[in-house]
Amino acid sequence: MQKLLLIAVLAAATTSAEPLAPAAQAEARALREKALADDTALDLVRSLTTEVGPRSAGSPGDARAVAWTVAKLKSLGFANVRAEPVTVPRWVRGEARAEITAPWPQPLAVTSLGGSLGTPPEGVEAEVVPVTTLADLARQPPERIAGRIVFFTGRMERTRDGAGYGRAVATRGQGAAEAAKLGAVAMLMRSAGTSARRTPHTGAMSVADGAPPIAALALSNPDADLLERQLASGLPVRVRLASTARYDGEAQSANVIGEIPGRDLRDEIVLLGAHLDSWDLGTGAHDDATGVGIVTAAARIAGSMRERPRRTLRVVLFANEEFGLSGAKAYAAANAAAIERHVVGLEADAGAFQLNGLAARVDPDRLPLVRAIQALLEPLGIGYAGTEASGGADLGQLRELGMPVIDIDSDAAPYFDLHHTADDTFDKVDPELLRQHVAAYAVVAWLAATVEGGFGRLPVAVAAPAAIR
Ligand SMILES: [Zn+2]
Repeated sequence: MQKLLLIAVLAAATTSAEPLAPAAQAEARALREKALADDTALDLVRSLTTEVGPRSAGSPGDARAVAWTVAKLKSLGFANVRAEPVTVPRWVRGEARAEITAPWPQPLAVTSLGGSLGTPPEGVEAEVVPVTTLADLARQPPERIAGRIVFFTGRMERTRDGAGYGRAVATRGQGAAEAAKLGAVAMLMRSAGTSARRTPHTGAMSVADGAPPIAALALSNPDADLLERQLASGLPVRVRLASTARYDGEAQSANVIGEIPGRDLRDEIVLLGAHLDSWDLGTGAHDDATGVGIVTAAARIAGSMRERPRRTLRVVLFANEEFGLSGAKAYAAANAAAIERHVVGLEADAGAFQLNGLAARVDPDRLPLVRAIQALLEPLGIGYAGTEASGGADLGQLRELGMPVIDIDSDAAPYFDLHHTADDTFDKVDPELLRQHVAAYAVVAWLAATVEGGFGRLPVAVAAPAAIR
């Protein structure tokens, strides 16, 4: 009898501590199944990649993307749809070419890194010096580098968590600047991507302070292999390269915002972010049209449930993530005073591949709630992935101001075969995986907008891993 009583008491205690009420769990399951049968996101990704296409910051495609998004959010029934102006730098890729001129002449598949300067019209020709990494470059005697083309050979590791990208991207960001300081006349790098195709990988780089600006080009992986094989001969290897890349001042873009107003806690915001811009080589399908489709569809479906979210779901489609986070900085500056109203943020910016985890950087007291939310996503293959959530590149600004963030993780290995290359196109989007992403984001958004209490606050300027972009 005593034992039975104890069990009954324990059962009652467990029930009262249950972070999600049974009715909320049932509604979340219904929402998950509804999203798995909905193609709003697929329609958006198809439309954005087909009717707008490449949309790098400040380009005509970027302006069309802003207009497209305003029209789509309105037609999908979002409230308070607006385009908040953001000033962005305008960089123009132009044409880039490169060829080995000795010992065995061959053309190379290359593309300019974003922000690279061009060459004189006649191009640049010099001997190639291979180095593996930035640290390897720093060990070189300056006379070995001066007057030559530095070639970074380091290969990005292909992993499910995408960790290899963080290492490869350091070379992309700083390689040209460091090489220029040592007198290099140009920089080549093996693409910061894992594609085995002749599709070189672009992405942002920075120009050196105080060193002469030099052209910086990425080689596709097979072309980097070719150049390495010629270097392995021990003969001097020479490359000629030319680029017409240039800056063209600043341009106007916008963060496009739409809301599903909350039922009674209307001033409290659950933020769903993705970025509207893309690099220009492909049509920005996985980076980040899928993110645009996922967060937009998730908010719409969550808002269509019989039980409307209590808090407001705010979708923000950020300007210029790729070349300086202009939209994220503008949104954070405009909302710093209202940061307490941002209950939690989720970003979609890693494509739409196999889901695998949920990580949450929240007040530790709220982790039982996070675990209860994650349990509802188990049928989608989403396990618990710990507390090291970054919030992504665009939401990182708000996380540093104290907004809790939840990351929904997926397989990064196929993503970095396509990311920032000409292969990032609509045919690579798997409709079923896209629906699964929408279901996961919709469930998290609806629960976050419905549960009692929020996720606490984070310490301001918490140190978190740099986000991928
Ligand atoms: Zn992206």
